[in-house]
Amino acid sequence: MTKAEPIISIRDVRKFFGQLQALRNVSLDVRKGEKVVIIGPSGSGKSTLLRAINRLEEVDAGQIVVDGQNICSPEVDINLMRQELGMVFQSFNLFPHKTVLENLTMAPMKLKNIPREQAEAKAMELLERVGIKEKASVYPRKLSGGQQQRVAIARALAMNPKIMLFDEPTSALDPEMIGEVLDVMKVLARSGMTMVVVTHEMGFAREVADRVIFMDHGEIIETGTPEHFFVNPEHERTKLFLSQIL
Ligand code: ADP
Ligand code: MG
Repeated sequence: MTKAEPIISIRDVRKFFGQLQALRNVSLDVRKGEKVVIIGPSGSGKSTLLRAINRLEEVDAGQIVVDGQNICSPEVDINLMRQELGMVFQSFNLFPHKTVLENLTMAPMKLKNIPREQAEAKAMELLERVGIKEKASVYPRKLSGGQQQRVAIARALAMNPKIMLFDEPTSALDPEMIGEVLDVMKVLARSGMTMVVVTHEMGFAREVADRVIFMDHGEIIETGTPEHFFVNPEHERTKLFLSQIL
C-alpha cells in the first residue's frame, strides 16, 4: 500500500437531525485505491457518513474534501463532483421503465454528452464485467435481486467514478445472491478502485479491506486492519457488536 494523498478527507464532521446527533466529530482519511469497510450497529451513522461524502446530507460542522475539492463549499459544482462518486444502495434503485442497457447509458449520455454508440459499447463492456451481458435488453423487474444489484454497480461504473461508495449492498438480498454481488465488488477492488463499503459481511471485510472502521452512536470507536478486528478488538462495544454478527 503506497502512502498516497487522501482522496477523501473528512475532518470533525458533525451532523444533527433535530436533537439527534447522527455524526459526532467524525474524522477519516481514505487514500487513493484504499478499501475501507465501515461496520456498526443500526443507527450508528454509517449511512449518514456515506451520504455526507457526496452531499446527499449536508453536515452541520466540519469539512469534507473529495479529490481536492471542499464539497461543503457553496462554490463547488456538486453535480460535477457527484460524477466522481459512484454510489450503490441497499435498494437497487434502477429505473424501472428503462432497460438494463438504458439504465447504464442514460447518465453518461445526458450528463457527459457521450454519444449513444460509445455509451452503449461501454455499457456492454461493464455488463460483461458484472456477468450479466445477456440481460441488456430486459427490464429490471425481470431480474433477480442479485442481478439488479450487479446492474446497479455497472451503472455507477458507467460514469467512470474515481470512488465507489457502497451502503449495505447485499443487505436486501436473499442469501444465495450475496456471493455474486460480493464477487463483483472483489473484482472491482482488485482493479484498484477506491472503495468505501458499509457492510456486515465480515468475510468480505477480511478479504478486501485495508482498514475496518467501527462506528457506534455517531462516532468512530475503533479503526484497524481486518485482523485486528477478528483477533484483538480493543473496545467493549466493538467486541459486543462483533459477537452479535459473527
Ligand atoms: P446507520 O446507517 O448506521 O444505520 P444512519 O446514518 O442511517 O445509521 O442513522 C443515524 C441516526 O440518524 C439514526 O438514529 C437515524 O434514525 C437518524 N437519521 C438518519 N437519517 C435521518 C433523517 N433524514 N431524519 C431524521 N433522523 C435521521
Ligand atoms: Mg444505514
